[in-house]
Amino acid sequence: MLIDAHAHLNRYDNLTDGALDEVENYRIFTISNSMDMQSYKENLEIGEKSKYVLPTFGIHPWVAHEYQHKLIEFDEYIEECPMLGELGLDYHFVKDSSLYPAQKKVFEYFLRKASEQNKIVNLHTKGAEEDTLRFLETHNIRRAIIHWYSGPLNILKKSIDRGYYFTVGVEILFTEHIRKIARNIPDDLLLTETDNPGGYEWLAGTSGMPGVLQEVVLELARMRKIEYEECVNMIQRNFERLIEGDKTVRDYYKKAKNNN
Ligand SMILES: [Zn+2]
Repeated sequence: MLIDAHAHLNRYDNLTDGALDEVENYRIFTISNSMDMQSYKENLEIGEKSKYVLPTFGIHPWVAHEYQHKLIEFDEYIEECPMLGELGLDYHFVKDSSLYPAQKKVFEYFLRKASEQNKIVNLHTKGAEEDTLRFLETHNIRRAIIHWYSGPLNILKKSIDRGYYFTVGVEILFTEHIRKIARNIPDDLLLTETDNPGGYEWLAGTSGMPGVLQEVVLELARMRKIEYEECVNMIQRNFERLIEGDKTVRDYYKKAKNNN
């Protein structure tokens, strides 16, 4: 089974006539991240439609300022959701630094909950890699998926030392910087993602379909000089190790895996 550890299925216009079929046909276990309450509700509905979808709840750093005074309203959703995402900080695409305190407030709120409830967090770190790592340390977060890491190699190294997992996605097909990062991620911490539909669109101008994940895996296999199947198995093993102690996530995963 393929693993798309970071996607946004609710953002497909054509979900019912294409994207979800690809998720099923290619057998892609997909973590469908939310940006806010509305997208979480949409992802829950998609989760009802496919065994391959794990919907997760989070408040994205791009919209954190809209929710910073309403965090307590989210407690029940945080509680019910087995994994939290998308969460994090962004000092790159968000240029207005007056919004950073709100990002930090929301991020820390979720990290506190994740730590108390021992949940995996799915993270956006663009331009804020060092601060993100500092918060993860402060809140004693043990299990994290760092999505589309594109920051400095020294912070990557420190994050690897803490045992966090990293998703490599479609940018590996486009830039040397991401290829270099992919080479620096140890085999046992490597995961894959699409961040679709937006991920591929951002790079190629056309909406990315879930099946593009195969190209990502193929390229990773080529770079690591292993067979495609071996790469699929390696990523699957990594994901299984990450969720080992997590009964609810494991149940989702098992349902997908047994759905032959
Ligand atoms: Zn995302």
